Amino acid sequence: MSSPSPGSTSVGTGVSDRMPLPALNKAGHVAHCVRCLDGLPASLVEMDASRMAIAFYCLSTLDVTSMAERQISPTDRKSWKEWIWDQYAEGGFHSGPFVSVSGSDTAHPSRGGAGVVASAATAPHLIMTYCALLALAVLRDDYALLNRAALKCMVGACQDADGGFETMPGAGDADLRMTYCAFVVCALLGDWSCIDLPRALSYIQRCRTYEGGYGQTPLGESLGGPTYCALAALHLVPADHACAPQARLQRAEWHATVRWLLHMQAEALAPVGGGGFAGRTNKLADACYGFWCGAALAILGAGDLLDAHALGAFLAQCQYKFGGISKAPGEHPDPYHTYLSIAAAAIISPDPAWGLQPLDPLINATPETARWAKEHVSAAPPEPKR
Ligand SMILES: [Zn+2]
Repeated sequence: MSSPSPGSTSVGTGVSDRMPLPALNKAGHVAHCVRCLDGLPASLVEMDASRMAIAFYCLSTLDVTSMAERQISPTDRKSWKEWIWDQYAEGGFHSGPFVSVSGSDTAHPSRGGAGVVASAATAPHLIMTYCALLALAVLRDDYALLNRAALKCMVGACQDADGGFETMPGAGDADLRMTYCAFVVCALLGDWSCIDLPRALSYIQRCRTYEGGYGQTPLGESLGGPTYCALAALHLVPADHACAPQARLQRAEWHATVRWLLHMQAEALAPVGGGGFAGRTNKLADACYGFWCGAALAILGAGDLLDAHALGAFLAQCQYKFGGISKAPGEHPDPYHTYLSIAAAAIISPDPAWGLQPLDPLINATPETARWAKEHVSAAPPEPKR
């Protein structure tokens, strides 16, 4: 942490929010992600069922910090591509094999109760498909194994009659996260014909709340994550699409949403979580909402209205001394909060010395990786190899 500048008088003066920011420990955060690519620590075992997402967070951290070239050897690059394609089936990707903590007595009788069991997901999953396509773009894969027709079929099959999207057909778990993932897949394919777009836009509209944010599902409470998902999805609809007018906020809606998002940022000098964003009204700041709310404001062209220096200071405080970023100061780090904090910093750029790549807030990737994904996912396929 940096010390106050000479003569500054601290609390209440507003001086502290102009202090130089602590350094971003990029080498430590990259090392945390490289460690997690090899295997999650025991404290993060509950994240193991989302291995594809972990791969996306870790590889994207390497990308945004410009370390992908240096940290991923040709051998690792090849084996990571192979591992991702091993999770490909029926047009989409699943999360990969995982271990989970089980309360079943049969899982580990010798321990007399809870134990660790190996599980395997095999059906394609919409969120994991989004993560896999982006992770492959970071690895500059050519998607030669991708069956575009089957991918479109899978995404279309995940859409419900009311316009929402489920993680898998028939899962009954529709919410705005999957709407966002479906829209990204359509944007990467450059083809929106596999989904009922008017119905999907109507679903998003029904998730909008009186506060100006969006709930996870219709009639839900405003939350930072779904608000990002809704706004990114709306702005992914191409300007020349017949549905584009339906996908833009009215002026009054824009004002309400910007206002709600800005209110999620704690005052720079707040005693707890100062400068950070909360995910909902009356909650404490959490590093990941620096991305969900910060990127949402950037999408609305209002990124300059948030206090970037204060958010940068909060994210810097969430850095763990041995690398990785946690949801709040003093907590244990994980790849999810590490990546989203770095992605937030890439968007708001609180300190040029942090030296991050810019970020495409709609796709959630560097512009170069987003461009690669669009060019190669949409490319006319060779004969599918499997
Ligand atoms: Zn969080």
